[in-house]
Amino acid sequence: MPYRQTIQELEAATLTNAREGLSEKEAAARLQRFGGNELEKKKEESLLKKVAEQFNDPMILILILGAVISIFLHEVMDSVIIVAVITINALIGVFQEWKAEKALHALEKMTAMKAVVKRDGQLKQIDAAELVLGDLVFLEAGNFVPADLRLIETVHLKVEESSLTGESVPVDKDASARYPKDQTLPLADQKNMAFSSTIVLDGNAAGLVVATGMDSEIGKIAKLLQHEEKLLTPLQRRLAELSKVLGALSVIICAAIFVIAVIQKRDLFEMLLTSISLAVAAIPEGLPAVVTISLALGVQKMSDHHAIARKLHAVETLGQVSVICTDKTGTLTQNRMTVVAYYLNGKIQSVSQKVTERRLKEGFYLCGNAKLDAEGVIGDPTEVALMRWALDNGVDAAQIIRQFPRVAEIPFDSRRKRMSTVHQTGLEKIVYVKGALESVLPLCTHLWQDGRRVELTTPMRRQIEEAAAQMAGEALRVLVLATRTVASLDESQFETRLCFIGMAGMIDPPKEGVKEAIALAHKAGIDVVMITGDHPETALAIGRQLGIAQSLSQVLTSVQMQDLSDDQLAQACQHIRIVARATPQDKVRIVKAYRLDEKIVAMTGDGVNDAPSLKQADVGIAMGSGTEVSRQTSDLILTDDNFATIISAVEEGRNIYLNIQKAVLYLLSCNLGEITTLFLAIVLMPVAPAPLSAIQILWINLVTDAFPALSLAAEPQDPYIMDQKPRAATESLFANGGWAFMVLNGLYIGTISLVAFKFGSAYGVRTAHTMTFMVLSIAQLFHSLNLRSLDHSIFRVGIFRNKLLLATFVIGVALQVMVVNLPVFQLILKTAALDWACWGIVFGLSASLILINEVSKLFNPVNHNWRSDSRNS
Ligand code: ATP
Repeated sequence: MPYRQTIQELEAATLTNAREGLSEKEAAARLQRFGGNELEKKKEESLLKKVAEQFNDPMILILILGAVISIFLHEVMDSVIIVAVITINALIGVFQEWKAEKALHALEKMTAMKAVVKRDGQLKQIDAAELVLGDLVFLEAGNFVPADLRLIETVHLKVEESSLTGESVPVDKDASARYPKDQTLPLADQKNMAFSSTIVLDGNAAGLVVATGMDSEIGKIAKLLQHEEKLLTPLQRRLAELSKVLGALSVIICAAIFVIAVIQKRDLFEMLLTSISLAVAAIPEGLPAVVTISLALGVQKMSDHHAIARKLHAVETLGQVSVICTDKTGTLTQNRMTVVAYYLNGKIQSVSQKVTERRLKEGFYLCGNAKLDAEGVIGDPTEVALMRWALDNGVDAAQIIRQFPRVAEIPFDSRRKRMSTVHQTGLEKIVYVKGALESVLPLCTHLWQDGRRVELTTPMRRQIEEAAAQMAGEALRVLVLATRTVASLDESQFETRLCFIGMAGMIDPPKEGVKEAIALAHKAGIDVVMITGDHPETALAIGRQLGIAQSLSQVLTSVQMQDLSDDQLAQACQHIRIVARATPQDKVRIVKAYRLDEKIVAMTGDGVNDAPSLKQADVGIAMGSGTEVSRQTSDLILTDDNFATIISAVEEGRNIYLNIQKAVLYLLSCNLGEITTLFLAIVLMPVAPAPLSAIQILWINLVTDAFPALSLAAEPQDPYIMDQKPRAATESLFANGGWAFMVLNGLYIGTISLVAFKFGSAYGVRTAHTMTFMVLSIAQLFHSLNLRSLDHSIFRVGIFRNKLLLATFVIGVALQVMVVNLPVFQLILKTAALDWACWGIVFGLSASLILINEVSKLFNPVNHNWRSDSRNS
């Protein structure tokens, strides 16, 4: 057991060096031999199995059986062709699936968990999946532990092990803990171990990998639970259900057609094949695949625009987002702070005035963890700004560190909103405290004024508060500096009876494009709420600049929030646009409050403490620069940390939904058209031959189904999409007139196909067949153009904008022209060459579908945004 071994024993057991780690060569060899650090996934299906699955459908099997039987009764050719067409269809299905899977794999790769290791004596970041036994791994706050580690060095390491032990209280880890050889301890008590998938809350550590993948403790649990199911997104689920219902309906109608045909004493076998072919063509089995492919395509597009969707459902939900709660610093603003003003001796001064008080500049320089190196000052932007300003004012970095070495520190945390450092100089110990006004001023009893320490009176306090409010009103982050001397390193003394020295005010300008993105969000009916650790006045000033909020009544503070019940908070959230002095815990309550109000909430976060709110939100959005934990618990990662990227992702999400809707409406109206044609022909023309043969129906399905539907899924951005209000989560794909659109177009396609049949009958049966065949197929191809936009004229959306669809249309029509003219196809598909009059009728009738849709779009109440308006009314 690694926790009972000494480091030397462990090094020997895992053939590694606890200081240098493994060599790249050795690591590669171990990876090859023992496999990667991954929990086993379900084995991927083989290609053969995927193809076989396409045939695993009772309708298809009956059809094949029918085809085989008909070899003995009819022409062999028919049967062979039927099987061939079915096979081509199955291959298309497999190809679609493969494409969707490939996109999903790429997605997994992009968001893979990382680990920092030492190999060949050098620190490097690798995919956690590539860790091997004996690797030397480094951990810091915000990491997931990537494998089971025996810790060899720990600094204040706190780990949250609830994923393993169910216990969410943080555990202190200690590399130096030693246990007797005969002692067996539960995981939770093994202080010198860190286990895979637990979270580093604080501190840092180094450890040797002692178990990976399925051998790790979490792997052992995973083994017990290994029956993962494919998770479907809500839309995929809804469509899978819909296709089942519609499929059953098609089967019933086709059975009815068959029964009627039998009563009419038509050729039994031929009608059996025809009606089953119709059922096969009409069952919208491809719907869920269209959704998956569209979502996967969307994921790819988003990743080109700095937004990585970690889960397919995120793409779907993004389109419905009605509230975006966003951090301020770094997301809305540049996180590039610069001190522009300071307060000293009762006056606010611009930084162009040099600081005369040594304590102010030295204190701000010393009380921080930013570092000065060859490239300048690096670290937390707030501290970087303060240090730069101190350096500009003549602080000598090397000398001051020598003169005031640090002997103790109480680190900054966003709850306390302050930090303290203690410095030894001679026999004295000086404490510097810096932090937010309301966090530090109450601790002050004195004031440093014109070189003297005086008692801090109430009017002086008020004067300081007013000055701070004035600076905050100009969008400045204000930090107070206070000091005292202490006799010992007793922490409880560091932050009492302080002497106020002064304040620094720093600006953090908004990021470019954010103001415009917020305006766009508002236009699209999305509320934007800024959540910040900053002072309410500072937050409001920036909120005003960005158009998020106008008055203090729209600002809520963490303290005010504590007095509100959940219901009251939900009520308040309707008008609140800024939450100031917020803590990560507040974020969880805010998400809940909006969800109580039935909003779909997106929430940003980057720290380890943000994980709960990211999980709680409908779309948890992590920053690319954030902690591993926040990234791995999010649904979307912004690689550029920019708010504007969220809005483009929302736009993309809305477009993807719209495209799916178009594909669905297209497929269903076309399928209805096919059913209508056959049903009406059989019922209305009892003595005429059936207007289409089995092969023709299957062929039409091939040319008009998958390809146009997929091309519609690739439709470029709808320019009006952000003029609409967010779609309700429960809204059906057929809302806003979708049903009527589908049924009317389906009936119309059926009717014109019959008209063509009637017209062709004058030339003989074969031409009648051919005419129906041609109109039914070409009308569907024309209809795919109608679907380019549900609301606007296709001439307005631009005929050439969706090149893929245009290509599908042209190739589809060319194929149809070919099959009636080439003798082989005439033979196979039983078509006849058409004269000009017939061609005129075929194209005239088919194109009329465009005409009637254009006219209906003309009467579309507000043409481009009637859909949103109809929702509001
Ligand atoms: P936002 O929430 O807008 O993204 P943030 O995360 O930077 O901002 P916090 O880091 O929680 O907010 O800071 C909250 C407050 O704590 C600041 O307004 C400031 O007054 C104080 N503060 C921030 N950084 C430090 C620091 N390094 N030392 C002392 N006080 C700090």
